[in-house]
Amino acid sequence: MRTAVISDIHANLEALTAVMEKIKAFGAHEIVCAGDLVGYNADPNECLDMLRREKARCVLGNHDAVAAGLEEPNDFNVLARAAVLWTREQLTEHNRQFLLSLPREQRVRDFILFHGSIHDTDRYILYRNDAVDNFQLLGDLPGSPALGFFGHTHVRTALIEQYGIISASLVTEELELLPDRRYLISPGSVGQPRDGDPRAAFLIYDDRERKVYFHRVEYDIRTCQDKIIGAGLPPRLAERLEWGR
Ligand code: ZN
Repeated sequence: MRTAVISDIHANLEALTAVMEKIKAFGAHEIVCAGDLVGYNADPNECLDMLRREKARCVLGNHDAVAAGLEEPNDFNVLARAAVLWTREQLTEHNRQFLLSLPREQRVRDFILFHGSIHDTDRYILYRNDAVDNFQLLGDLPGSPALGFFGHTHVRTALIEQYGIISASLVTEELELLPDRRYLISPGSVGQPRDGDPRAAFLIYDDRERKVYFHRVEYDIRTCQDKIIGAGLPPRLAERLEWGR
């Protein structure tokens, strides 16, 4: 079975549309999303409608929690706060209820899907040190899944644990999952990449081949930027899309 893993769409309809086209071309059987469906960009309702149409299994991100009114943006920076409060005003009641219905983590077959860290939506996994307790928590979960997919960092990452030692894979295009190791993997961001490559990021996990394939896809950044400016959102949010920062 091939699963498409996406994350951090952040209401970027142009990027999500381009990614969905690629996912269909790859013949993925299911789409899962590691949270932050909205925030930053200008098409929250359109993106949520598309994710529901495509029956994507989603978990709740920190921006989703604030946009839906579950939390306040107390620890958000100025740009993120402006965008998430704008999003809160835009959401239809149907889409707000959809966000409220999302779990913070979800077991899907042989992996677990979560946003920031296991049992903590807001905490980043950027470096090996951040992953130590996440690997422990992975082992404590029912069935002790050897694989977790996460988001929040907007950076493609693959951390590998064996005998308590954690290493970072310098992932390029594909990663083979070996049986005696555990993996925490981020596909990078669909709607606001921050690793210097402005193209939308996602991955395909093939559980029969036991391989993860990382992908990037170009999208119409200009149209997305125009919508951000047109909506009165901070211009910096439009600029950063073309830098991938
Ligand atoms: Zn995010």
